[in-house]
Amino acid sequence: MRTCMYLRKSRADLEKEQCGIDTLSAHKKILLEHANKENLNVIDIKEEIVSGGQLFNRIEMLKLLAEAEDNKFDAVLCMDIDRLGRSGMKDQGIILDTFKDNDIKIITPQKVYDLNDETDMLHTDVKSFIARQELNLIKNRLYRGRVSSAEDGYYVHGTAPFGYKKIKSGRNYTLEIVPEEAKIIKIIFDMYVNEDKGAVQICNELSRLGLKNASSNTNWSVRTIKKIVHNETYAGKITFGKRTYKASKEGTKSKLNPNYLAVDGKHEGIISYDLWQQAQKKAKARYNPPARTNTGIRNPLAGIIKCSCGYAMVLKEDNKALRLVCSKRCGTVGTNIIRVEKRLIHDLKEHLNSLLAEVKGKAVESKTDALLYKKSILEENLKKKQQQINKTYELLEQEIYDTDTFLKRNGVLSSELETLKKNFKSIDDEIKEEEENIDNEVLIPQIKNILDVYDNLTPDKKNKLLKSTISRITYYKKHGAKPDDFKLKIDMKISK
Ligand SMILES: [Zn+2]
Repeated sequence: MRTCMYLRKSRADLEKEQCGIDTLSAHKKILLEHANKENLNVIDIKEEIVSGGQLFNRIEMLKLLAEAEDNKFDAVLCMDIDRLGRSGMKDQGIILDTFKDNDIKIITPQKVYDLNDETDMLHTDVKSFIARQELNLIKNRLYRGRVSSAEDGYYVHGTAPFGYKKIKSGRNYTLEIVPEEAKIIKIIFDMYVNEDKGAVQICNELSRLGLKNASSNTNWSVRTIKKIVHNETYAGKITFGKRTYKASKEGTKSKLNPNYLAVDGKHEGIISYDLWQQAQKKAKARYNPPARTNTGIRNPLAGIIKCSCGYAMVLKEDNKALRLVCSKRCGTVGTNIIRVEKRLIHDLKEHLNSLLAEVKGKAVESKTDALLYKKSILEENLKKKQQQINKTYELLEQEIYDTDTFLKRNGVLSSELETLKKNFKSIDDEIKEEEENIDNEVLIPQIKNILDVYDNLTPDKKNKLLKSTISRITYYKKHGAKPDDFKLKIDMKISK
C-alpha cells in the first residue's frame, strides 16, 4: 500500500518540547516501526513544522491533500487521527472529505480507518477526532446542506450514474450527459419497456452489440441493469433518502423509504419520466420471488453448480418440473434437477473408486522433501531481505540516510522482497499439490458419507453436505442435446 506519513505536533507536544523532548522524531520512529511491521510502502514523509493554526497555514497538509487528489498514495500514516486536524470544523471537513472521496485510508498504530465504510465513519475515534458537538453540527449541517441542495435539484450523491458526468455548478454539483453512454441508457430502457426484455436478456444483448459498461467492458451484470431501470435520475429527477440503512448482525441492510424526496433536477433527463414510470410497472410485474421456501432453499445445488459460461445455475419451475438453468441464459440448455442429482451421485461414485485405486497403487514416494529444502532456503532469503529493509529504517533514524535515500533504497529492497515472496508462493503451491495425495485420505470417507446418506436428506441438508466436500460443479450441455446428454465437472474442496 502506497503510504504517506504525516507528522505534526499537538499542543501537548509543545509543552513536552519545553522539557526537551523531541516529539516529532519520537513519533517518526514509532510510525516507521509500524510501517515496517505492517509492510506499508512509505513513499513520502511529511513533517508539519508549524503547529496548530488554520489549514491554510499547514503547508504540508495542503500538499498532502493535493497529492491525495492526484492519487499519489493509498493511505496516510499518522500517530492518531486527531493529528490530522484540530483547528476548525471546516478544515476537518475538508480533510475528511478529501480522504473519503479519494478512497484514502487513515492508518494509525492502533487502527486502520476506511472513511468509505459507514461503520468506520461513525467509529468513536473518528467521532472524537471531530469533537462530539462539532460532529453533530457537521452531520446536521452536511445533511441539511445536502437535503437543501437536493431540493434545489442538484446532484448530492457520490459518483455520477452511468450516462452522466458530475460537474460543478456554483457551490453544488449537477450532471452532464455523456452522449455515448446516454445512448446505451436509452437502449436499455427501450428494450426493457418496449421490447419487454428482462435484465438477463438485456445484458446479453448489450454484450452482443459490444457496448461497454462503466468499467469499460462488455460484461454487463443483471444488477447493473436493474439499478439503471429503477434510477429516476435518468428521467431528470433528483432523489434523496431513497433507501434507509440499518446495521444488524448480518451487516447493514437497506430498505426502500416510501417517503423519499424526488424533485425535478437541474440536469437534463436521458429518457422521459413517462418511460421511467412504465419501466417501474414492468419491474413490478417481472418481480421473481427468491428461490427460498420457509424451510430453506429448494435447490440442493445452490451456490455450488455453475454453468460453463461461469454464471450460477438456478432452479426454474417449468411445466411443474424443476429445471436447472443458466442464470445468464447464455444458451446452455437446462436439465431437470433430478437428472442432475442422479448424475452427480453417479460421478461421485466413480471418483471415489478412482481415489481408492490411486491410494492402493501408490507407494509413499514423494518429492516433498526436496521442495521443503528449497522452501527453507527461500525462507532464509526472505528473512535476510526483511532485515535489510529493517536496516534502512534504522539508518534513517540514525540520520545516516536522508529521507530521499531511504525512500529509494527501501523501494528497491521492497520490490526484491516481492519477487522472493512470489517464488516462495510457487514453491508452496507445489508442496500443496504434493500434499493433495495426503488429502485423498480425507476425501474418501467424506464422499462415502455423501453416497450413504444423500437420498434421504432435504434439499437444505443436501446442500450443506455437498458444500462441505465440493467447492464447485461446472455444468456443460450442448444445444440440441438429449436430456441426459450433459457433463458435470466436479471440483472437490481440499479440506484439512
Ligand atoms: Zn451459462
